[in-house]
Amino acid sequence: MAGSGAAEVVGRNPGGSEVAGAERAASAAPFTARLTRLLGSLAAMRTGSVDLEELHQAVAARLHDADQLYTRGRRELIELLVSLGRPATIPDLLAAQPRLTQSSLYRNLASLDELGVVTKVTSSDDRSRYELTEDLIGHHHHMICLRCGRVDDFVVSTRTERQIDSVLAHAVDGSGFRPTGHRLDVVGLCAQCV
Ligand SMILES: [Zn+2]
Ligand SMILES: [Zn+2]
Repeated sequence: MAGSGAAEVVGRNPGGSEVAGAERAASAAPFTARLTRLLGSLAAMRTGSVDLEELHQAVAARLHDADQLYTRGRRELIELLVSLGRPATIPDLLAAQPRLTQSSLYRNLASLDELGVVTKVTSSDDRSRYELTEDLIGHHHHMICLRCGRVDDFVVSTRTERQIDSVLAHAVDGSGFRPTGHRLDVVGLCAQCV
């Protein structure tokens, strides 16, 4: 149903200029500076639409509403999830930032999950993968590798989204169910496993 070439794999790394903007902010932590250097080499890549500053503001507002502090550890975790650019396991997160402890990761992921900031992603294995929720990073789909469990994000055009919604609405027509959206995964083998 998707037109050829409509799907586009999107790295959710913020653009170099956005990170530079974050670094200029008075609150820039050393971690942000390191992230900036890390992402600098990726600046030429096609990047997603995540603006790090806007993202931090949205998360901070949500935590504030829940009487929760946006601690440095939580900020770092959010930035780490953005920089990894795909749903991440706890070992993925620890490998990317060994300074984090497993216990603090578990604690922060659990509380951010409860607050609707991160969500668990289902893959083909039983490992938990986490990503930022769609209301923060936008609607997207997943490619799930049936062999290694890797999950990558992709987006399709607005026109294709409308076509998907239309096909699915037609499919459930007459059931009494009123669709308000969809979740759609593509399963198969990733480029490393083919
Ligand atoms: Zn794979
Ligand atoms: Zn969709």
